[in-house]
Amino acid sequence: MINIIKSLIIVIAIAGTVAAIIDLKYNNFLQAFTVTIAVQIIGYNLLKKLQSVHLNIKNKELQILEAETLKDVGVNVQCAYCGSSNLIPVTFQGDNSFSCVGCEKVNAVYINITSAQKTDSTINSSVNVNVFDDNIEMVKSKIKNNDE
Ligand SMILES: [Zn+2]
Repeated sequence: MINIIKSLIIVIAIAGTVAAIIDLKYNNFLQAFTVTIAVQIIGYNLLKKLQSVHLNIKNKELQILEAETLKDVGVNVQCAYCGSSNLIPVTFQGDNSFSCVGCEKVNAVYINITSAQKTDSTINSSVNVNVFDDNIEMVKSKIKNNDE
């Protein structure tokens, strides 16, 4: 309420000042006062409209960014209540809980990290091939021996 009164006082003060200046030259205070108020109201509404458009564009950019983030670290998770599939963003910073798209119940997400031995085929490949070849030769000779 105080803000509205403050805004009205500012609008009237500006209109009064501009009208007084115009009145000195053209002797038409009331018309200048009315036009100045109208210009201020129209200008304010135009500014609000521009801000709204700007905000919408920013919002769309954020949605696109969010969708791209979701694509990179998005994980398909089944709801613990109804089993619906939910694509959720997973982060190591903070809470990963989400509301299910099916039943709207809040699910918690637990991340289980396990380690595994890294296999590197380039280090032992020649040895493996030799062992494999030796085994094949051994099996072949056994088969030959059994046949005889
Ligand atoms: Zn659910």
